Amino acid sequence: MVAGARLVVLGKQGAGKGTQCLSLSHHYVVTHVSTGDMLREAVKQGTSLGMKAKKLMERGDLLGDDLIMEMVAARMAESDIKDRGFILDGCPRTVSQAQMLAELLAPVDLDLVIDIEVPTSQVLRRLASRRVCVDCGANYSLTQRPLIGWTCDVCGGEVIQREDDTEVAIANRLEIYEAQTAPLIDWYQQRGQLASVSGTGAPEAVTKRIVKAIEDRRNRKGGRFS
Ligand code: AMP
Repeated sequence: MVAGARLVVLGKQGAGKGTQCLSLSHHYVVTHVSTGDMLREAVKQGTSLGMKAKKLMERGDLLGDDLIMEMVAARMAESDIKDRGFILDGCPRTVSQAQMLAELLAPVDLDLVIDIEVPTSQVLRRLASRRVCVDCGANYSLTQRPLIGWTCDVCGGEVIQREDDTEVAIANRLEIYEAQTAPLIDWYQQRGQLASVSGTGAPEAVTKRIVKAIEDRRNRKGGRFS
C-alpha cells in the first residue's frame, strides 16, 4: 500500500492549491483538509463559527489564529488523519498558526511544505475566470466549464463565482498573502521543510513536479518520512 503523508501546501490565491491538493490526496490516499472549504461549509450550515466567518471571508480578511487552529485541531484528531496523514490547504496562513500547528503535531512533525509558485499576473487572470461548485467545491473556469450549463459534473451542484473572487476582495487577499503568509516560506525554509515548485503549465505537469519533490525528499530520508 502507498505510504501516507503529512503535507502543507502553500501558494497565492489562484496558484492551484485546491486542484493540486485533490490530486495529491488521491495519489497518497490521504485526506485533503481545506480550512477555506471547512469555513464555507460552516457559513452554509449557519453555525456560530460560520456566522463569525461570513463577513471576514467576504472581505478576504483572515479569521483569528486561535479560532482557526481550534477548528484544525478538532479535524486532526479524527481517525482518517491519525491513520494516514493529511494534505493541509489554506493553513497555516501566519507564522503564529505555523507555530501552533507544529505544537499540535508534536512529536511527529510535517513531512514537507510545498510552495506552489505562480506569478501574480497569472493568478489574477485565473481568479477572474475561476468558478466553483457550491456543494462539493470542484473547480471550473470560464474556459473549463462543466459539461452541462453551470451544473457540477461531480455532484450536480450549482457552479458559481466565489463571493470573495471580486476585484476588491482579491486585491485584499493578495495583499494579506504578501504581508502575513509569504513570511511563512522563509520560516519553513529555515527549518529545512520547504520545497518550492513551479505552478505554471498544465495541472497534471504541476502534480508530477510536486510528487517528484515529495519522493526526492522521502528518498533522501531513506524511504521514510518523520
Ligand atoms: P481559501 O479558500 O483558502 O482562500 O479561504 C477563504 C477564506 O477563509 C480566507 O480568505 C479567510 O477569510 C478564511 N480562512 C481560510 N483559512 C484561514 C486561515 N488559516 N486563517 C485565517 N483565515 C482563513
